[in-house]
Amino acid sequence: MSAVTPLGIPDVGPRRLADLPAPSLVTELPGPNARAAIARDRAVVSPSMGRVYPLVPARAEGCVVEDVDGNRFLDANAGIAVNSTGHCHPTVVDAIQRQSEKLLHYCSSDWYLPVYAQLCERLVATAPAGMGAAQVFLGNSGTEAVEGAIKLARYATRRPNVIAFLGAFHGRSLGSLGLTASKSKYRGGFGAMPAGTLHAPYGDADHIERVLFEHLTAPDDVAAIIAEPIQGEGGYVVPPADFWPALRRICSEHGIVLIADEVQSGIGRTGRMWAIEHEPVTPDVILAGKGIASGLPLSAIIAREGLMSWGPGKHGSTFGGNPVACAAAVATLDLVERGLMANAASIGTRLLAGLHAMAARHDAIVDVRGRGLMIGVEFADHDAAAAIEQRCFETGLLVLTCGRSAIRIAPPLVIDADRADKVLSIFERVVSEVSASGL
Ligand code: PLP
Repeated sequence: MSAVTPLGIPDVGPRRLADLPAPSLVTELPGPNARAAIARDRAVVSPSMGRVYPLVPARAEGCVVEDVDGNRFLDANAGIAVNSTGHCHPTVVDAIQRQSEKLLHYCSSDWYLPVYAQLCERLVATAPAGMGAAQVFLGNSGTEAVEGAIKLARYATRRPNVIAFLGAFHGRSLGSLGLTASKSKYRGGFGAMPAGTLHAPYGDADHIERVLFEHLTAPDDVAAIIAEPIQGEGGYVVPPADFWPALRRICSEHGIVLIADEVQSGIGRTGRMWAIEHEPVTPDVILAGKGIASGLPLSAIIAREGLMSWGPGKHGSTFGGNPVACAAAVATLDLVERGLMANAASIGTRLLAGLHAMAARHDAIVDVRGRGLMIGVEFADHDAAAAIEQRCFETGLLVLTCGRSAIRIAPPLVIDADRADKVLSIFERVVSEVSASGL
């Protein structure tokens, strides 16, 4: 048996890319190969994808991303919280290779796949005890999990309406787009959204009873309330402590299904398997996606005991729970449970402390918040946050904006103290530069 490091990573000796210093920039950005790749891309790829800066990755390991010109970047974004175990974690790659030699696909909606059930068992074991003997449906993407959960809630309650929150992001297919309320541009031009969706301010559960139930929907017409335990796209916003208990009370009083959308916050990112575990409540449904399979497409609807009353054919998916993605997810859960979740908690504390101290030194930073490795840094306005994002890229640090004027820090969960300190030092240098430029 090979030795295992404290983070649960098999000790495979020096790993070339993951261990190299980053950032290390060897060309102007974008470099010549990146410029050529971008030109080809622009000719044929849907222009709906709003690329944030000209990064063209060629390979990546751990927290290091190398582009097509050999520039190395330090990744504090993880492909938007997807590369949870770090890029190309050897344990995950090994699980993918082994599974792909045995079975690439056989439609899980019609036949039995042992690795599908194995992953569902593992997810059930992670669910809060209050969910009882939970059951799981696997899909391919976050939006597919959201759509399935709304179908499930409507089916189980035979009610039409769903309540979501301003600032929420739940996906871009038509059903989930009706719930998404982070930016109006996501909806603009697409006509009427599905009927029966209502929104309340995030963090203000009182609004549901005072305004929505009073004026817009009878509670017994509401199938579900769906919320992110920490709002992601909306700005990495941690809700007030009384928010989730109030949602739980409202749902329990009126027979409404409470859905925690953990597509971004789940799988150990906040230092616990599910961000909802930081709240004193048990949801009826947990949705997972993004980081669940370390980069392979997979999502999950985890529903409390008894909720999945739907019968055969009521819901399915050709590719959902593909065996290769399932094998990657089982390996991901192993790594997260055996060390990465604890690492997210301790490195997250280090990053949060460093950022709070930074905020005290820089007026440009107006707020720092988050849990574990899901951290938001708020600036005065959108232009400042966008300039920070851009300048970080030019300096070799990968970050992404969120909300109106925040930067999200969401590195792979394998990040160690040295890399975290590097993130802090580069970020502070960039904040100083951008502040000095008058933004
Ligand atoms: N739910 C949340 C909380 C998300 O952050 C996202 C994506 O960012 C989604 C749902 C949609 O996921 P996908 O892009 O995989 O459809």
